[in-house]
Amino acid sequence: MRSCAECGCPEYGGAPGCARCRALLDGLVEEGWRAFLRREFGRAEPSPEEETAIAGMVAEEPDRHDWRVVDAALDRLTCAGCGSRLGRGPRGCPPCDLADGFRYSAIETDRPGVPPGNEHAVRVGVSVVRAAHRQSPHAVLGWRAGLPALLEGFLPTTTQAQAMRARINAGATYEELAEAYGDLSPG
Ligand SMILES: [Zn+2]
Ligand SMILES: [Zn+2]
Repeated sequence: MRSCAECGCPEYGGAPGCARCRALLDGLVEEGWRAFLRREFGRAEPSPEEETAIAGMVAEEPDRHDWRVVDAALDRLTCAGCGSRLGRGPRGCPPCDLADGFRYSAIETDRPGVPPGNEHAVRVGVSVVRAAHRQSPHAVLGWRAGLPALLEGFLPTTTQAQAMRARINAGATYEELAEAYGDLSPG
């Protein structure tokens, strides 16, 4: 795992506080979106109007698209209830809660050579950390600590995941958790 030059955490793990780690996470979603536009529409830079229309179509049918494409589409739509990016407003905003729930019906394809379920863990972690204000501090802490290892293809066993949760509940710091993941993960 490489350390982030800006915050010193393993890369991605400093989000949402570290702008560089946050940009890396956003980049995962944006790369998926650009690749989708190139594949389906022949160019990665449609006009803003076209891009919003495409995002609206994707958001209508999240189960037909990769999760990166769905998350990027939601980022391009404005919530009619609260005015934030759709699905990223405060908890309790009905359109955001609905969109945030539906996003999980998107397609998750494990990358070659990773344990089955790794991609699901990555997608949950990315969603949680990119909308940290919608989550409990413990959830954000756990995913921040785990994401760098997950992105390298690691997937904790149920026992390991439970042990991590117990440590979080007992008040472990980010540094302690990140070190524990570093020890578990072969990367
Ligand atoms: Zn960072
Ligand atoms: Zn909203």
